[in-house]
Amino acid sequence: MKKNCDILLCDLDAFFASVEQLDNPDLKGKPVLVGGSPEGRGVVSTCSYEARKYGIRSAMPMKKAISLCPEAVIIRGRMSRYKEISLQVRNIFERYTPDIEFVSIDEAYLAVKEGQGFETGTAIHDAVRNELHLPISVGVSVNKLLAKIACELAKPNNVDTLWPAEIEEKLWPLLVRALPGVGPVAEKSLNSLGVKTIEELAAYPAHALKYALGSSAEAVHNYAHGIDNRELELEHQAKSISEETTFAEDIFEHETMKSVLMELSSGVGYRLRSSGFTAKTITLKLRYRDFRTITRSLTIQEAIYSDRDIYQAAVSLFEKNCGSPPWRLVGVQASGFEQGSQMSLFSSLAEHEKETRLTETRDKLREKYGSDMIIQGRRLKKKKKKEVIDHD
Ligand SMILES: [Mg+2]
Repeated sequence: MKKNCDILLCDLDAFFASVEQLDNPDLKGKPVLVGGSPEGRGVVSTCSYEARKYGIRSAMPMKKAISLCPEAVIIRGRMSRYKEISLQVRNIFERYTPDIEFVSIDEAYLAVKEGQGFETGTAIHDAVRNELHLPISVGVSVNKLLAKIACELAKPNNVDTLWPAEIEEKLWPLLVRALPGVGPVAEKSLNSLGVKTIEELAAYPAHALKYALGSSAEAVHNYAHGIDNRELELEHQAKSISEETTFAEDIFEHETMKSVLMELSSGVGYRLRSSGFTAKTITLKLRYRDFRTITRSLTIQEAIYSDRDIYQAAVSLFEKNCGSPPWRLVGVQASGFEQGSQMSLFSSLAEHEKETRLTETRDKLREKYGSDMIIQGRRLKKKKKKEVIDHD
């Protein structure tokens, strides 16, 4: 880790659902689910905190979510709007530091001068609340691991710290599952050793963890002591951009996987364009039911940057390598960067995103009303918003 730095993890709370509640105050205080339709075997992409009280989680099949909370409002989601807001959040982050690793559309690590972490975290939290009226949680510490866990402790809509001196009090009581690298399988094998909490893991002899944790034993044991040597992957030095989803329940349908691939491709595309890169290689990551995980890549002659091109590459990889269902995890990565010459077509990213949004709006209207109606798009705006909420 960079010396003399505090590390922040800034994560917008229930981001897509919060944006929907912001744009439509009628939804405030209500359980809101953003994701695919329950008939179409969609999954929950994001749910509001009100929905979480019913046990609903991200990546849960929409059908199951609705059975837990029949009165929940389902919204199809408006990726272009989320990207627009993500860009505004990014602008706020950039006021405080150029050293930022964007993890996803709603999450970023920031490095700031040692001693300024809490003050900066509080300023960012207040700026996002006052200027964008959105809830964000910020975790502050000295490395990525501790910042991430501090952020979990801060949720929702708060700022918290997890300094090395606070490890015993704040980190050790948590279950081992809270550590990166400890999935359900590792958790089970640790539990069978009698290791349930991070404190118990920290006290366990490192060499005896090899059997339970394999090659990640040393890193995970270090995590239990709050030690994390991972550097921030700063966007301008990044070699790849990726997003992935681990499903709450195994996914059996190809169509569901495609809609998740669409969302991931869109997130990757957005971040690619934000960094001014184009990519020549798209990689699909897929985990099968037996936890076997594969990565398969496709290298394209001409560098790409649009959501659609990334999605097409990801889907073709998926179709070739999907094997038999169900699937537990899927990820999309773009690499093989070139400084994007195509980006010069757009005078700025904001304009490009606006253009994408217009295209999407146009496509949607065309689907719904036929091409003649596009001219009247303005008049339809209000009506459309309502329909999106009722039906999509
Ligand atoms: Mg978030």
